[in-house]
Amino acid sequence: MNREVVIGVDIGTTSTKAVVFGEHGHVLSSHAVDYPIVQPYPSWAEQDPDVIFSAVVESVSVTIAKANVTSKQVKAIGFSAAMHSLIALDASGHPLTRCIIWADNRSVEQAERLLNEMDGLDIYKRTGTPIHPMSPLPKLLWFKESMPELFDKADKFVSIKEYVLYRLYGQYVVDYSIASATGLFCLDTLDWDAEVLRLLGISKAQLSNLVPTTHIMREMKKEWAERMALAPDVPVVVGASDGVLANIGVGAVLSGEAAITIGTSGAVRTISSVQKTDEKGRTFCYALTPDHWVVGGPTNNGGILLRWLRDEFGGQEREVAKKLGVDPYDLLTKYAERVPAGAEGLLFLPFLSGERAPYWNANARGTFFGISLHHKREHFIRAVMEGVCMSVLSVVLAIRDVTGPLSEIRVSGGFAKSAFWRQMLADMMGKELLVPETHEASALGAASLALYALGEIPSLDTVKSWIRISSHHIPNEANTFIYSELFGMYVRLYERLKDEFDSIASFQQKYS
Ligand code: ADP
Repeated sequence: MNREVVIGVDIGTTSTKAVVFGEHGHVLSSHAVDYPIVQPYPSWAEQDPDVIFSAVVESVSVTIAKANVTSKQVKAIGFSAAMHSLIALDASGHPLTRCIIWADNRSVEQAERLLNEMDGLDIYKRTGTPIHPMSPLPKLLWFKESMPELFDKADKFVSIKEYVLYRLYGQYVVDYSIASATGLFCLDTLDWDAEVLRLLGISKAQLSNLVPTTHIMREMKKEWAERMALAPDVPVVVGASDGVLANIGVGAVLSGEAAITIGTSGAVRTISSVQKTDEKGRTFCYALTPDHWVVGGPTNNGGILLRWLRDEFGGQEREVAKKLGVDPYDLLTKYAERVPAGAEGLLFLPFLSGERAPYWNANARGTFFGISLHHKREHFIRAVMEGVCMSVLSVVLAIRDVTGPLSEIRVSGGFAKSAFWRQMLADMMGKELLVPETHEASALGAASLALYALGEIPSLDTVKSWIRISSHHIPNEANTFIYSELFGMYVRLYERLKDEFDSIASFQQKYS
């Protein structure tokens, strides 16, 4: 067998990364190409689709060169991409807009109206996408209302992955997974939602052809195949979104298994064999395969909070860390370790960036509660770390309401570098946590899905056996007991402060 590698391409928010995998998900090479986010106005977040396309071509060609493989050895390529992006194209496929990404908040008002006046909860229940400015539905409504000329001129509305595939193949296709994160796709019929399209005033012809995530494309345009040193007939599997593929990539693939990722922001995702939405609209449901649906929730407030502490209040640690040649995060967490669980009664609501799941409240803000003279710097650090864990727990509980208990939980992301923080999360949840040894989870997920599509692996479960577990965290019962009391206060405090959050957010808008 001379075709022996598979490539996963992950089109992310800050970079596109292409990874060459050998047998059993072994990484042979990887290459990332970065690109900027453009913010013409404070709440906007856009990227240049052609810059991203070039990044895809460059990352694939460089990683192939690094791995020193020939085009004949490339068995397949699988694609992963960030969710929720939107580009308007003209009739010849040229972008009329930049790529508007999930972080763009221009459609806050449209999202609110969709929820309060336009049956938003029903739309969510049909589409699985929470009504929020992150997703294409409110963004399209914004275009219709704020830039009607451009909206009318648009021949197609696509995501970044559809744009890349269009440039490679001249065809408009979108996988069920990316489609299921648009707010326009009906989970039951696996088709565009007629009512949502009517509400927007767009036709199916303006959207791409829907295909399963295992759909295989061949006959790439020669120019691009040559540029990437690929055979034009190399099977390219359209793949899915980065979030659902990351579940495969960390080995959380069986029903009830969950992945918790805490990087700058965070997400909890579990696998369900059927699609499931929440009566209260707290969780998302995105497609992976006909037997794998991913139910979960994103939180805005993950590692960014420790970064905020380090940058705004950690001058001392930064200096010491520099002298000792260590990571300032390690010093901060060492301080926090001096304080017992519960930070001796200092409670922190971590909503510095508003919150998505489970509250979906852009006006929520951070709060220290219970501050007293015995609280020192280390209590504040610990309370912030505990606050992040409580927000993750609140998402886990919302998911559990929808899917039932989680059988196994795997954690990853920058926070997982700290054994202390991981243990804190295990204690907070009262559940064992596993730490998988993978670094390119979405790319591995994309590559594995490609192998599955080609029949090279019998099921996605196979991937689980490729992933080594580097550590386990068993909850400390005494700490879990303390946290359960504190978490009750956290939930009540949020409910009590909900209205006041609106007041302070509007005050902040006026005076800053
Ligand atoms: P992203 O790529 O989304 O920025 P990362 O995986 O780089 O996410 O994680 C960034 C976050 O992880 C940091 O903001 C910090 O909170 C946390 N982190 C990174 N290293 C450590 C560490 N050694 N100890 C504790 N937390 C850490």
